[in-house]
Parts: sequence; C-alpha cells; structure tokens
Amino acid sequence: MAVIGGGWAGLAAAVEACQRGHQVSLFEMAPHLGGRARSLPVQPDGGLALDNGQHILIGAYTQSLQLMAVLGVDPEQALLRLPLRLRYPRREGLRLRPGWPLLSFARGVLQQGGWLLSARLKLLSTAGRWLLQRFNCAPELSVAQLCAGLPPPVMQDLIAPLCVAALNTPASQASAQVFLRVLRDALFSGRGSSDLLLPRLGLSDLLAEPARLWLAQRGADLQLGQRVQSLMRQEAQWRVDGQPFDAVILACPSGEAARLSRDINPAWAARAQALCFEPIITVYLHCPGAALPAPMLTLQDGAQAPAQFAFDLGQLDEPGSVVTSNTPNAPNTSHAPNSQKPAGQRAGLFAFVVSGAAPWVARGLTETGAAVLAQARRELDWPVPPTLFKVLAEKRATFACTPGLQRPPAHIAEGLWAAGDYVAGPYPATLEGAVRSGLAAVRALTR
Ligand SMILES: Cc1cc2nc3c(=O)[nH]c(=O)nc-3n(C[C@H](O)[C@H](O)[C@H](O)COP(=O)(O)OP(=O)(O)OC[C@H]3O[C@@H](n4cnc5c(N)ncnc54)[C@H](O)[C@@H]3O)c2cc1C
Repeated sequence: MAVIGGGWAGLAAAVEACQRGHQVSLFEMAPHLGGRARSLPVQPDGGLALDNGQHILIGAYTQSLQLMAVLGVDPEQALLRLPLRLRYPRREGLRLRPGWPLLSFARGVLQQGGWLLSARLKLLSTAGRWLLQRFNCAPELSVAQLCAGLPPPVMQDLIAPLCVAALNTPASQASAQVFLRVLRDALFSGRGSSDLLLPRLGLSDLLAEPARLWLAQRGADLQLGQRVQSLMRQEAQWRVDGQPFDAVILACPSGEAARLSRDINPAWAARAQALCFEPIITVYLHCPGAALPAPMLTLQDGAQAPAQFAFDLGQLDEPGSVVTSNTPNAPNTSHAPNSQKPAGQRAGLFAFVVSGAAPWVARGLTETGAAVLAQARRELDWPVPPTLFKVLAEKRATFACTPGLQRPPAHIAEGLWAAGDYVAGPYPATLEGAVRSGLAAVRALTR
C-alpha cells in the first residue's frame, strides 16, 4: 500500500496499515515528516527548537492520544493536561473544574463572576437548548447567527476565542454545525474531554519522529524528499510515479490531492480544489525573567491587537517532562534530532497565536510582529520589555470552515482513498481530524 503525504493523517494511515499487516511505502515531499505540525530544524548555532506554530490538543482527541501511545509516547508526560480555563491577563474567564463535563460546565458558568447573572443564565439555557437539539443545526448557519441571542460579554470572552481556536475562522464566517460538534465532543462527552493538552515536547518529537522510527523498525519503505508527480490506474494496480501498488492513500493537502486525482475523478478533484484557506501566524517573543500567570492565557484581540492566545514555553518545559516509552522497541525520543532542550531551557520564551489571521497577513509580518509586541507590552506586566524572537506564518494553515461547506469525501476511486484534515468529517481542520481520517481510510480500504 502507498501512502502519499507524511503529515499526521498519512502517519496515522501508515501505522494502521502496518498494524494490519500491509507492506507500506510512504512518500513525503519534504525531507522530514509531520506536515503542518512539525518542529523547525534546530539552527547550527544550537538555538532554541521551535515548532512551525503552537498547537493545542484537547482531551477529546482520543485517536491522536492512542496513536502516540502505540508509538511509545506517553501522552500524560508528553502533554501538560490542564482543565479548560480561559484566563485573561488581568481577569478570570470561564474555568472548568475537573469532573464530568456537563456538571463542570454548569458550575463554571455559574461561578463566572465577570458576567451578570442574567448572562450566565442565558448561556446555560442556550447550551441546554443545543443539548436538547443534540448539537445539530441548519448547515447554513454561522456561529455568530447561532449565538445571536447571547450577551456580548459571553460572545467576546467565550464563543469568539473558542471558535477561532477550534475552527481558525472568525465567528461571523464559521460553520455553526461544525462548532456545535466540537462543543459536543469537548464540553459534553467523557470526563476530561474538555481538558487542554499542551505539548511539552517539540511537535516532531510528539508524533513524527516516533512514527518514523516505529515505521522503519517494521520495514516500511520511507521515501522522504519525494514529491509524487503522477498517479494512475494500470489494469488492477495503481502506479505512483511508476511504482505499482494494490492500494493508495492520498494524504497530501487538498490542492495536491486534486492535482494527482484530476484525471481519475474530476468531480472529486474539483471539490478538493475549491476549498479556501485561513492562515495562522505565530509570534515568538523573548523576555528573560518573565513568566505568564498560567502556561496559557487568552487575549482580547482587536484592530491593534492580533493575538488571541499566549503560551509560556518555559512553563511547558518543567522538570519531569522527559518522555519515557511504555512499549517495548519504542524509540528513545531523547535522541531524536529535534529533541527538546533540557527542562526549563525555554524559560522566557513565549508563543503568541494569531488565528484567522488573513487581515494580519495582508498587513504584513513586520507590522504583525510589532503589533503583537505592543499588545504584550500593554497587557502583560513583565519586568523588562519583551523583544521579537521570530514571526512565522502558515498561509494555508487550515481550510476555512464556513457554513454549508462541501468537503470532498474519503473515497476517490476503487483502491484509492483520501486522508487529511480537509476530508468530509465532523471536525474542523485539526490534528484529531487528520488522524481520524487516516485511520478511517485504511479501515475502509481493508474492509
Ligand atoms: C500554525 C498552525 C497551528 C495549528 N494549530 C492547531 C491546533 O492548535 N490544534 C489542532 O488540532 N490543529 C492545529 N492546526 C492544524 C493541524 O496542524 C492540521 O490539521 C494537521 O497537521 C493536518 O495534517 P494532515 O496530515 O491532514 O496534512 P499535512 O500536515 O499538510 O500533511 C500533508 C503532507 O503531504 C506532503 N505532500 C504534499 N504534496 C505531496 C506530494 N505530491 N508527494 C508527497 N508528499 C506530499 C506535505 O509535505 C505534508 O507533509 C494548526 C496548523 C497550523 C499550520
């Protein structure tokens, strides 16, 4: 079986296929695995390891956590688990205590002293209505329309940051249907599902590098730096750049998947090609001796304030964060090329995330970096002024998750399936969506 693309979807597919006894060839265009969730190469001068963008997982990402465990990464050590808390620099936001999500949510809302009692009751009654409707709504509704009756502070402090964090699309343009599905799985499913899981390791050490070692140990053929140019059907076989395979999983982004499948299934390719994208900018700031009051803060964004979230990377590096393997033959991640620096090395380094960043990409990265710097100086009481460390933009970070969006299905042709965060499914473009689609494609192929 061939897997084209070595992001989280392709890696999940390759691991699942190996587990089911297939001989797997994985083609990845880049010289490294991980796709849109990877660590950047460490500079030769031994500089700090950075990711291509700060990522957050949540407790409901069950398939991603399970995949890590298969690869020998212990999620409880590799990720810092925190009950959901939208804390602002100078005030508390919604805070959920550990426990059953429904009760924690109701208690958290009632205890949210920053909102009038009438606003808290309105949110609870609205959430109760969503629950009764089984978190379904008309596909053409936007999140802003869905929440139109909610008081402005609830919109501003809760709905807007949750929406942009989960869908990377502003509430006025985001799909209410997908938003409700995320809320259902995060806030109203099992215990711990709404917990925030913040990577203590570089993203490559979280999945890509353990997966590379795991697959190599099991005889998978890993062809890195290999951009697949052509895919065609020849009698009963698929040819990937001329090499024969009985089945193929197309786990590259939608644009590449459309190019490779254009002559095979033009209607599928057209739908994949039609997706639009939203950027994410990550601004890394440096401020020696400074710390945030929590590992993650929510920020109020606005015309002069790009970032919605800030992360204190020093607090994620706490001692004891070294990953240990829990399976025999598991990789020793501390020897991986992008291994995190020893505990605490990133103290004083902060990641500021600008989601739904199209307006800021238009204003330019220099202006965005300066605006985040000014936002940090205004909102955070740091002992010394921060400086700009790095500004990274992923212009096609996720597909724009808009109302009524028609995403391409997983099935393209006999023996040819798509996997990726954009493939039709309940989730927006997320790590979990990518992993689930990779697993689903292999299961469908081998059914
Ligand atoms: C800055 C940023 C922040 C994010 N934050 C979060 C977050 O907090 N939480 C979350 O859940 N999600 C987040 N996401 C989204 C998440 O990263 C993606 O949903 C996920 O990584 C997509 O994985 P994928 O495997 O579907 O696609 P990709 O990661 O894009 O993988 C596709 C792979 O295919 C390869 N490829 C392309 N063409 C070819 C070809 N012709 N031949 C061979 N290989 C090819 C590419 O090089 C790539 O490695 C974020 C994304 C970004 C960019």
